[in-house]
Amino acid sequence: MTETYFNWIDGDWAEGGAGLVSIENPGTGETVAQQHFADASDVERAVAAARRVHQSGVLTALRPVERGRMVRAMGDALLARLEENAQLLCREQGKTLWEARNEIRNSARYFEYYGNQAETLEGKQIPLGAGYFDFTVLEPFGVSAQIIPWNFPIEIAARSISCALATGNTCVVKSSELTPLATSLYGPAAKEAGFPDGALNILAGWGDEAGAALAGHPGVNQIVFTGSVATGSKIAAAAAKNIVPCVLELGGKSAAILCDDADLDAFEGEVRKGIWTNAGQICSAMSRIITHPDQRDTVVDRLTALAQSIDVGPGMERAVPMQGMGAMASGPQLERAEGLIARAEADGAKVAVGGRRLNQPGHFLPPTILTDVDPASEIAQTEVFAPVVCVLTAEDDAQAVEIANGTEYGLVGGVFTRNLDRATRAARQLRGGQIFVNEWFAGGVETPFGGYGKSGYGREKGREALWNYVQTKNVAIKLG
Ligand code: NAD
Repeated sequence: MTETYFNWIDGDWAEGGAGLVSIENPGTGETVAQQHFADASDVERAVAAARRVHQSGVLTALRPVERGRMVRAMGDALLARLEENAQLLCREQGKTLWEARNEIRNSARYFEYYGNQAETLEGKQIPLGAGYFDFTVLEPFGVSAQIIPWNFPIEIAARSISCALATGNTCVVKSSELTPLATSLYGPAAKEAGFPDGALNILAGWGDEAGAALAGHPGVNQIVFTGSVATGSKIAAAAAKNIVPCVLELGGKSAAILCDDADLDAFEGEVRKGIWTNAGQICSAMSRIITHPDQRDTVVDRLTALAQSIDVGPGMERAVPMQGMGAMASGPQLERAEGLIARAEADGAKVAVGGRRLNQPGHFLPPTILTDVDPASEIAQTEVFAPVVCVLTAEDDAQAVEIANGTEYGLVGGVFTRNLDRATRAARQLRGGQIFVNEWFAGGVETPFGGYGKSGYGREKGREALWNYVQTKNVAIKLG
């Protein structure tokens, strides 16, 4: 008997109109559990519950520190069941157990950070002369709809749930159809933390059914979406139709510029982290490396040895930090990556290492390096969302920046050099929401994150994200 997971609507578990769906472990091919999927009528009930709580004013009536404490308690609940949550996440998503544990810790960090921010939001007083008293108030939008992808399901949900609740919004969250199980546990965690029934609703469901119904629902006041560009465009259209703001965190094709004076030993560690964690399914992955032609062969040899040293297999068997790499999240994702690699080879690229799926159950693509890649080719322009890195060459820093900026994306970028002037110049010229110097993923929950270009708009993380969840009201009082 497999376990069954439910939706969480208005403070209780609920079946769903779209029926039961089996959730597969991508690392073994086995069924992890059955999940009730929501349909449009479940979305209706969840939005109605969230609206009711918002309109009651119960969350905004609280002193912000109280809301903040409840948000922080949700993070504490995650950590109290760290191992249980991590194992469930590992089994439904395919990542290694050590990565799943990190994801739970990082998710708890969002609840800590935004819980602490709750009481820091303040309006201002605007001088209008002796005849007036004028001030601004920051108010929540109301119902925040949050549509989550499958690569970091718990962490990305934590990012928006914590910020929305801390600012006094209510939430309807739709998890990814591939990874709904662990996300559903946020429902009871909110209740235990003291949030009223209906403040947080968690739905599992298909994108074109529950997802579309939620994004287009007239009772939603703000939308946060993380996922592909194609879906992001549909979400933006739905938001425009209802005149509600949205935050779009979309894909990337981010480049690391490796200068000839960089510390190559340190760089290896950054590549390991940047493209070969989470099986490369990271929107801000280091999916391109741009280096000088004289240095290329040395770099490729070193990285090939590194790639071969990474032991790939089922996530549950890889619990030690930095031990191995897990599965890709689904069969179609693996097939898509294989198709891109095959077309890259047809375009003239060479596979230095990897490139072929492992012949075992589960969806495994080993760490893959492509060389001789034309910067204009499909593989250099398209997000593979897999453990695949392209090594490109540039004659000088200016050309490297040009190649780095030469895609429609602009999520993150990086430069590796010991020369501060080169680093600063590149950081200024790179087009992206976050630039890393000498450390990929440098930053944290405190630092703003989001895209330029087709990587989306709006910012998550940091104090910057708070402004996506509040609107300004100005109160002007005419004095007698
Ligand atoms: P996706 O766009 O297919 O799905 C994302 C979510 O949207 C899922 O919950 C899905 O059910 C839902 N959805 C699908 N169609 C919908 C519709 N018509 N209306 C409403 N919702 C719909 O993306 P994915 O395949 O789950 O995730 C991979 C992509 O997400 C990659 O391109 C990756 O770069 C991007 N991503 C970006 C970030 C970021 O922060 N920028 C983070 C993670 C993933």
